[in-house]
Amino acid sequence: MNFRMDSMQVFDLAVPGVRELEPYQPGKPIEELEREYGVTHAIKLASNENPLGPSAQAVSAARAALSDIHRYPDGNGFALKTALARKLGVTPESITLGNGSSDILEFLARAFVQPENEVVFSEHAFALYPIVTRAVGAKPVVTNARDWGHDLAAMQTAVNARTRLVFIANPNNPTGTWIKARELESFMQAMPGHVLVAIDEAYFEYVPAPEYPNTIGWGMRFPNLVTTRTFSKAYGLAGLRVGYGVSSPAIADILNRVRPPFNVNSVALAAATAALDADAHLADVVQTNQKGMGQLTGAFTKLGLKFIPSVGNFVCVDCGRPAAPVYERLLREGIIVRPLANYGMPNHLRVTVGLPEENERFIKALEKVIREA
Ligand SMILES: *Cc1c(COP(=O)(O)O)cnc(C)c1O
Repeated sequence: MNFRMDSMQVFDLAVPGVRELEPYQPGKPIEELEREYGVTHAIKLASNENPLGPSAQAVSAARAALSDIHRYPDGNGFALKTALARKLGVTPESITLGNGSSDILEFLARAFVQPENEVVFSEHAFALYPIVTRAVGAKPVVTNARDWGHDLAAMQTAVNARTRLVFIANPNNPTGTWIKARELESFMQAMPGHVLVAIDEAYFEYVPAPEYPNTIGWGMRFPNLVTTRTFSKAYGLAGLRVGYGVSSPAIADILNRVRPPFNVNSVALAAATAALDADAHLADVVQTNQKGMGQLTGAFTKLGLKFIPSVGNFVCVDCGRPAAPVYERLLREGIIVRPLANYGMPNHLRVTVGLPEENERFIKALEKVIREA
């Protein structure tokens, strides 16, 4: 008997939707760059990580939790759900905890979307939406962007009897564009009852605009709404993997049925619970981001480079020519940013706002690279 299978045969065995996927391309890790390019003191502005890191409270709670890691975590996440419920003004029954908010996006597809269904999302939106859609064998329906952001009218038109789920990132990653409360509310009103709408608010805490909606208050009016948020970005806990969804208890009940029992680990649960109390740190994070955003966009303007105005902790700059060689040159300068060709944006680079000195190093390097060309 031949137990060996070549990679072609393996490919044929995969679920058809999965065969059409490109693997998700994460930002290059610092260690990999230093190993491959022989540079030192590299900086990474590629994955929208928080340059200030987590609060001291979160770190000390994580440390304390280490003494119990021989135990399974609380599978129901009681302490974190209670703290979130209090903070958000919802019941614990409306919350689903995830191994990152990515988990919630995947549960939505797994629990509600069948192969004959369609899932609507925008061009230039988060790369996970096509992945979770294809993985359940459903059809992604991608609407054209408008001014790099979601075209809600086009998305509304794309919804039909087969649609089961709509993904909206507000603000959107990678473009940093955002949708006003009034527009999002009309969109929700227009959605038929058989369509779930996931509003992905991974960057919620960063957004300074007064007209930016807090959709967690909307649950009573829109029972088909699911809001997702994360501890990976403003709370600085990306490595621990913890996020959550807020929805009607009915939707949360379904999501919890597909959720693996111990999907959020005990260290993450402890750190996230403590992070919710560290208001001063969060304020510092948001302020550092706003200053850094000004530093980057000011420099782009000086260099004559266009950029997409962003309310997140990242910004897309238009190199005015293919960005791949610029990305490569920046790597040689020890700076990792994110190329966006796989998001349909070959001339843009996405830069995460870093510490002031990191932003400065990036600006200097970009200036040098642009001048050379
Ligand atoms: C980073 C990000 C997420 C989630 O990340 P997790 O670490 O899985 O919580 C979700 N949506 C968008 C748009 C993001 O940029």
